[in-house]
Formats: sequence, structure tokens, C-alpha cells
Amino acid sequence: MDKLQGVGVSHGVAVGQVRHMGTAVLEPPARQIDAEEAPREQQRARQAVEAVAADLTARGELAGGEAQAVLEAQALMAQDPELIADVERRVTVGGTAERAVYDAFSTYRELLAGAGEYLAGRVADLDDVRNRIVARLMGVPMPGVPDSDEPYVLVARDLAPADTALLDPALVLGFVTEEGGPTSHSAILARALGVPAVVALPGAGELAEGVVVAVDGANGEVVVDPDEAERERLVRVAAEHRAALASASGPGATSDGHKVPLLANVGGPADVAAAVEAGAEGVGLFRTEFLFLDDSERAPSEEKQVAAYRAVLEAFPEGRVVVRVLDAGADKPLAFLSPGEEPNPALGVRGLRTLLDHPEVLRTQLTALARAAEGLPVYLEVMAPMVADRADARAFADACREAGLTAKVGAMVEIPSAALRARSVLQEVEFLSLGTNDLAQYTFAADRQVGAVARLQDPWQPALLDLVALSAEAAKAEGKSCGVCGEAAADPLLACVLTGLGVTSLSMGASAIPHVRAALAQHTFAQCERAASAARAADGAERARQAARAVLSGE
Ligand code: PEP
Ligand code: MG
Repeated sequence: MDKLQGVGVSHGVAVGQVRHMGTAVLEPPARQIDAEEAPREQQRARQAVEAVAADLTARGELAGGEAQAVLEAQALMAQDPELIADVERRVTVGGTAERAVYDAFSTYRELLAGAGEYLAGRVADLDDVRNRIVARLMGVPMPGVPDSDEPYVLVARDLAPADTALLDPALVLGFVTEEGGPTSHSAILARALGVPAVVALPGAGELAEGVVVAVDGANGEVVVDPDEAERERLVRVAAEHRAALASASGPGATSDGHKVPLLANVGGPADVAAAVEAGAEGVGLFRTEFLFLDDSERAPSEEKQVAAYRAVLEAFPEGRVVVRVLDAGADKPLAFLSPGEEPNPALGVRGLRTLLDHPEVLRTQLTALARAAEGLPVYLEVMAPMVADRADARAFADACREAGLTAKVGAMVEIPSAALRARSVLQEVEFLSLGTNDLAQYTFAADRQVGAVARLQDPWQPALLDLVALSAEAAKAEGKSCGVCGEAAADPLLACVLTGLGVTSLSMGASAIPHVRAALAQHTFAQCERAASAARAADGAERARQAARAVLSGE
């Protein structure tokens, strides 16, 4: 019985046989074709690209929500005009369609991988697109989720969005990946599906096909070939967890009644049903950039935006809906707003900086939001991503006022400077919302898309908890609110710690809400405060987690 340690990113326990993802990279033979075959090969390549793009789009429609946006971005990748031109050129000089696709994508892949930052994070998506096109051209099965009638634990190097979106929770008991960090797309999608998941597990690829593993998505532990006693323990933990889930309902609160509203993170109207079903008390983060991915040339029209915003606002009558204005750049590139070549896009013009450079895009979005909320009883709040300082906060608040918005205006705390100077930022805005995904990235200089530095993106890092505490204390002193809308809020144990640090609301993917509600309901506010102090006093993320667990379980 071996124990492997990865990073738990989606709660629950799964015990089952390992099935590896079919990731074989198909390398087509390098065969020279005659010049007269070129037009036919070019046509085959074009047809395969179109079919794969259509398939990705269809998978997206089936999956809905954030998964849809990711899959549609992949469909756009497949149809990239420069890539297609490169494929055609390679066929003209004697390559087969499959070899030309393979080589063109591989060249582009090298460029992306070498470009660092967010571009490297898109390599898995690009490889997946290439493998799909090549498989189609070679007439072999698509790479992807294994065929199995029996439930299994899916193991992969990294999961492409196209696969995670279609995982069948009835067959896939859980998943384990070698790459990926806690805030990667795969982790976010796993939580959306509600399957236990562990990422950044060294050696995952070497697990034998068919061996039984126990995956604990809370603590990141994977036990290989667990003995009877260990299996019984895990089954018991899972049963206790289910019982706790079943007994908690209603608004979020500690056992002694300290209220912590539980809100949902949504990517658009398609995510609303799951949020309502999970009992979300509103929306704490509406990621509006997914609306902007449809057209790489321009922003969606004001009318289209009004309709999408209204659909979300109407789902929470009397509730609170916090909309984040467009967060473009770095890991969320948008061609028409691209600042051009930047050596470090995550440190460049992104988020609010992009919008301040394109005031017309911000103005249209704010006007659309004001119109969408007209006549509705909802409490609309609007916040800006990537606020660095008071000047940023003022510029955003001014833009909101100029657009005639009466909503509460807030700032996301994603850059350490904003946390360190939270009181100054709060002179301009009415609330703070901690984006712990980016806050971890910038605090530890650790790209959120790189599995190798996942250790540093762990939101249990005491340095990150210190910044959360600073922000919450500043908000309290100013009589304002400070929520968390990063992935940290979705970890039930950490949610108790964040509550103890003084945050006033928690926003997460809908599937995490029942788990967080149950965890809060089992502890008093004073216990949460003690757990928070113990975690902050620890050296390192794992020790912080253990210290908090010890306090909360009364050990
Ligand atoms: C964050 O950075 O924590 C956040 C909520 O924003 P996103 O994950 O969309 O960058
Ligand atoms: Mg962010």
C-alpha cells in the first residue's frame, strides 16, 4: 500500500480501478506526395479542421457553462487562419494532410511552450486539438476518455477541457493528473462536475492500469492498492461526509449563527440553474469574459450583453449578484484587446488595465449592466479585476458613475499591493473581493497554470492567509465587506479558516456550496477564529492545513 501526495482540488473520496486516458500522440509517417495530390490533401485537411471545430462546439453546447467557453476557444484554435495557411503551405511542398497538420501544430506548440506565462498553459489545449485533427485524418479513434462500462478512476497527464467537459460522473469516480495546478481549467471543471480530483501528482502516469486506488480530493492523497482497513476507513469518511451534507441546509452560517453568505461563481446564464439548485444565496463572481469569447474581432453588442446579464440577475430576485467587468489578458487572452507582444503577459496590460486602455469597451459593459438591472429588485454589485492601488480603484469608480450605474462598486484584491493598502483602496470603493487564484500567483511569483509550481499556489500558504487577514481587517475598519471569490472558498476546511480571518462572504463553483455549508455548520465562529490563528502561525501550507484541521476536529 503506497501513499502518493498530490494537490486535492475537488472534494470527496473515490475508490476504484485506474484507467489511463488515451493520450497517445499520433505521429503520422513523413511521406512525400505528388504535386497533383496536393489540392485533395488540402481539402482533406480543411474538412478535418472544420469537423473537429464543429465537434468541439457541439461538445461545448452539451456541456454548457464555463466548459462551453473553453471548448469554443479550442474550436477557434483549430480554425486559426495562420495555422491553416501553414498546413496548406506544407501540403504544397509535398506533405500529406496529416503530416502537415502535425508539423504545423508542432511548430506553433514550440512557440507557445517557449513563450512562457499563459501561452505555455494553452499547450495542452493545442495538443488536444492537433491530436483530434490528426486522428480524424488517419481514421483512428479520437484520443480521450477510455471506453469502459465499469466505473473507474481516470488518470491522465493533464486533462484537456474537451475531455473533462464530457466526463460521465456515473462512470468516472474521480480523477488524478500529473500536471495542472489547483486553479487550472481542469481543476475548475472538475469541481463543476462534482467529481473528486487530485492534480500535480508526481508519478501518476506510472500507476498500473487496473490497480485500485483511493483518491481523497480533500487532502490530495492517493493510496495505491489500499488494504481492507484503509478502504473501510475511507468508506466511513465518505459516509460521514455525505451525512453532514444531507443535514445542512439554508443560508451559510457557523453553528452559533455567524452568517457567511454562500454565493456562486458563474460564467453565464447556463450556470445559473446549478447555482440555484445548490442553494446559492446569490452570485459572488459573474465572470463576464465568457461572453466575449464568441467573436475574436470585437466586443459583444450592448443588446447581447443586456440579455445575458439580465438572465443571470433575474435568477436571483432579492439576491445579490456581483458582476466582474471583463478580465481580459494573460490566461484569458482576447485578440481584439491584445496589447501586442509582451514579455510577461501576466504582469502586463490585463484586467482593469486593459479596460482603462479601451474605455469604450468598459463604458458599453457598464451601460449594459445598468440597463439589465433596471426594474429588477436584485442587488447588483460591480467589481473590477486586477486593481493595484487607489488610483485604479478611483478610475473604475469614476467610470461606473459616468455610466450612470447605481450599483455598489468594488475592487478585486488579486495583487498583493491592493491587500497591503486595502484601506486606501477602500476610500474609493464599497467592497473588496479576494481573487485568491491570482493573489496566490502574484504573491508567490508562481504561474497559476504551471503544475511544477503548484505547491506555491496552494491557498493554504500562510503568506496568502496573511494578505486575506489584512484585507478583511481593513474592510472591517472601514465598515465595508470583504468576500472571497477565488478557488480557496471552495475548500470546506479553508472556508472555515477564511471565516475566522474575517471574510464576510464566500463565493465558489456551485458544486462546492453544500460541502462548505456543511463544514461551517459544524463549527462555531470562535473555533474558526482559532483555526485561522493556528493556520497563520504555521510554517508552510501543509502545516497550516494540519493545524487548522487539528483545531476544527478538536484533536
Ligand atoms: C481569482 O483570480 O481568484 C479569480 C476569482 O479570478 P479568475 O480565476 O477568473 O482569474
Ligand atoms: Mg483573477
